[in-house]
Amino acid sequence: MSAAQVAPGVHRLGSSLVNFYLVEEDGRYTLVDAGLPNYFAQLPALMAALGADLHDIDAVVLTHGHSDHIGIAERVRTEAQAKVHIHGADAQLARTAAASSGAGSVLPDLWRPSALRFIAHMARNGGTRVARIEDLTTFSEGITLDVPGHPTVIGAPGHSHGHCSLLLPERGVLFAGDALCTNNWLKGTTGPQLMPRAFNVSDEQALASLDRLEPVEAEVVLFGHGEPWTGGVRAAVAQARERAAR
Ligand SMILES: [Zn+2]
Repeated sequence: MSAAQVAPGVHRLGSSLVNFYLVEEDGRYTLVDAGLPNYFAQLPALMAALGADLHDIDAVVLTHGHSDHIGIAERVRTEAQAKVHIHGADAQLARTAAASSGAGSVLPDLWRPSALRFIAHMARNGGTRVARIEDLTTFSEGITLDVPGHPTVIGAPGHSHGHCSLLLPERGVLFAGDALCTNNWLKGTTGPQLMPRAFNVSDEQALASLDRLEPVEAEVVLFGHGEPWTGGVRAAVAQARERAAR
């Protein structure tokens, strides 16, 4: 899939299964999440189309440390001399590039075509050999990061211990990360929902994190997995809660 602008100065990269984003402010750039290793070539191509290049990236901000979100982070860090930022509680995940593990089992759903498609996609795109990140800057929740776009960090744990969502208040954009998704690749369902239980360290905590996201003022919600949502955070949270209660 080609990169597309999904909000003012915000471009979507990746594939129909795994997203990451490029944010521009005054000619400087921040990458929000870092997809899978084989997506790398998309980045210089997009930057050239924007009249910029890799060295205009100052920062990579990770919503969490799972392997499908850190794929090109180390390469961007070294090639663009960008700093990689992550919540302290997920730093170890990113440092070791360990495979993610949640509270449940994927086995009951592995027969599904959607699950098989995702696993094949991960393998094809280097998801099983993600480079560990050698140098990380850690942040805590509640702060506004001094990087292009100036995202505000909203702690939203549950998918992982240090998972955060990122808000661009002036643009009305929330990067939900994996606090929510609109494509449950394990079960093949679409629309706002929590990530599959098998990939959350705590479903309960992930549900509780929706309370923190609910009052956020943003029309556009962008996810690690699935299509953008333009109906506002409140409505996305309501749908996810309703689905979780079923
Ligand atoms: Zn993910």
